[in-house]
Amino acid sequence: MAIVLKNGTVVSAKGEIKADVRFEGEKILDVGQNLAQTGDEVIDVSGKYIFPGGIDVHTHLDLDVGFTVTADDFSSGTKAALAGGTTTIIDFVNHIRGTTFSECVKHYHGLADGKCFCDWGFHLGVSDWNPERSAELEKMVKEEGITTFKMYMAYKGTMQVTDEQIEGALRRAKELGVLFLFHCENGDMVVDNVQRLISEGKTEPKWHPVSRDADVELDAVRRLIDISDKVDYPVYIVHLSSKKAMLEVRKRRQAGSKVLCETCPQYLVLDDSLYEGTTEDSFAGGKYVLSPPLRKKEDNEELLAALAAGEIQTVATDHCSFNYKGQKDMGRDNFSKIPNGGPGIEHRLQVLWECGVEKGLFSAPRFAELTAEMPARIFGLFPQKGIIAKGSDADFFIADFSPVTITAAKQFQNVDYTPYEGMTSHLNVLSVFVRGKKIFENGKFRSDKPEGKFLHRLTYCDGKKGGNLP
Ligand SMILES: [Zn+2]
Repeated sequence: MAIVLKNGTVVSAKGEIKADVRFEGEKILDVGQNLAQTGDEVIDVSGKYIFPGGIDVHTHLDLDVGFTVTADDFSSGTKAALAGGTTTIIDFVNHIRGTTFSECVKHYHGLADGKCFCDWGFHLGVSDWNPERSAELEKMVKEEGITTFKMYMAYKGTMQVTDEQIEGALRRAKELGVLFLFHCENGDMVVDNVQRLISEGKTEPKWHPVSRDADVELDAVRRLIDISDKVDYPVYIVHLSSKKAMLEVRKRRQAGSKVLCETCPQYLVLDDSLYEGTTEDSFAGGKYVLSPPLRKKEDNEELLAALAAGEIQTVATDHCSFNYKGQKDMGRDNFSKIPNGGPGIEHRLQVLWECGVEKGLFSAPRFAELTAEMPARIFGLFPQKGIIAKGSDADFFIADFSPVTITAAKQFQNVDYTPYEGMTSHLNVLSVFVRGKKIFENGKFRSDKPEGKFLHRLTYCDGKKGGNLP
């Protein structure tokens, strides 16, 4: 039996229209006028909006950072995603040096399989590059459905790769038509800065952003684009955070460089004044120790303007949650020992809606493009995901615009705070559907059964014109 959502407003990257959405099983049958047929179940959604299910392409669930493990695992993390209107995530398999990609992917399937409430895919974080790993990359694409890879220009000694390795990987990526993502911070500069600050007795959270200032990001962005130009192949920069880096990307694009960019809600609405802590708790700034760090208000504004101008392609979260009590406070006496990362998987859409659409900077269709369609296109999921259209998966959320307050007390994220505590959003998620099934409604899950599916993705260049971009 088909279901029809009647009298709602359907939002897509192209625009918003008053239309019915008719779906059966896992797929959308049609979007249009007066679609109900005899025997259909008709749900009236008058006055409400239907958005494509969000796709968060940057999460870290059940991540072991060596001395502790993230607060959210694949169960709590994917539930939290759904509660916020996100129906698909792409998480990172962490490659441990000296092991094979296959071993690491297998380990991650052990962590995620049978636990996910929304659909998910894996990127592979590549911490080493040599002929064996280069040969193994094709197997990831063809057998594992993993078509995007990430390299870190920071985290010296564990993940950081050299420029030479980046160039080798990018040449291989070009052969296979796959996309590489890059964490752009100069890890050598970070190590030097941390050593200097700590030796000067500068140990509080407020020194974290100093140790990883915008020049640290800018240097890595420059080097990366130089390599991309040399190889003549696109690169994707994760969590772009500063005005300096944004200006560099703009300048280089004008000169012909092929750069895709992602930013995150924390770089749009939070700033480095939070590192000062509060009068009651001088260590409260530890909650915001993430990398890259929070910047200044002018950085927030530059990135928001870039989103509105179409210069940033996606908004993801870099969700990597650690409890304030028991985890973040491991670095009470030394900011460099605070586990890096913060929660956000649940509130991405609400925060972005508020700072972008509600403030009048960009439209609801642009919001849908940033949070669903472009992630689907770039990461090989389009048109299965990312759009409400005939033949696509019936992934969407229904919302109205009544105000809601974000608070840790009500969240599904399994962590003891949210960086957005007390913030109001006018995006009120009422119900969420994944592949035609209503999973979440009125603040509650309708089932305790994790039914998320692992997604084998297309490669970046499976689409036409050297990528799946419109
Ligand atoms: Zn990350």
